[in-house]
Amino acid sequence: QLQDQLAEIRTLRDQLHEQASRDPLTNLFNRRYLDEMLLQELARAERENYPVSVIMLDIDRFKRVNDTFGHKAGDEILQALATLIILHIRLFDVACRFGGEEFVIVMPHVSVETAYERAEMLRRAFPKIDLPSVRKEARPTLSFGIAAYPFHGLNSEQLLKSADMALYAAKNSGRNRSVIYTEDSPISRKQSGV
Ligand code: GH3
Ligand code: MG
Ligand code: MG
Repeated sequence: QLQDQLAEIRTLRDQLHEQASRDPLTNLFNRRYLDEMLLQELARAERENYPVSVIMLDIDRFKRVNDTFGHKAGDEILQALATLIILHIRLFDVACRFGGEEFVIVMPHVSVETAYERAEMLRRAFPKIDLPSVRKEARPTLSFGIAAYPFHGLNSEQLLKSADMALYAAKNSGRNRSVIYTEDSPISRKQSGV
């Protein structure tokens, strides 16, 4: 009987942990989980000497979409995007909702060039998804920033910062595009005056 109770407690504990790691709207992992897993992943990448790419993506002009079609339609777009991301990643990639309309995909063993290709595939697929509440012409586009360990950051904070700077450069140069982090990315941030 004690064994049964212990098993039940373990199951409940695992369920709780799972829930605490997920974003309720999209069911993707949340930022808390990302921080934990990235720490572990980069430690392993250092030991075993392999690259880890990070894609940060953000919906373009999403505020306008909410204002035009309503918050509920906005939520549907977020959910549809999460599904699209899940369909596009591999088994060992991790997808998280990083903030409101911002997502992060962590790709162990993936080069920055391959990550860029994946980002471009997602960018092109996004306007084609089935979404009854938002007509095709009014669909928002996506911008992507890409950075890879160890080239653009040696720890998770640096790596996410580099991806964020690349994303910022993508926004700054017209949106609806993917940008790989370069040393120039911080310069374009300065030039924008923000
Ligand atoms: P940019 O192209 O620069 O990214 O412009 P933007 O309008 O997407 O960016 P901004 O940060 O100004 O606005 C983000 C919007 O995302 C504002 C907020 O209403 C919306 N948003 C954040 N979380 C949610 C959510 O859970 N549901 C819905 N429907 N909207 C959300
Ligand atoms: Mg946005
Ligand atoms: Mg944003």
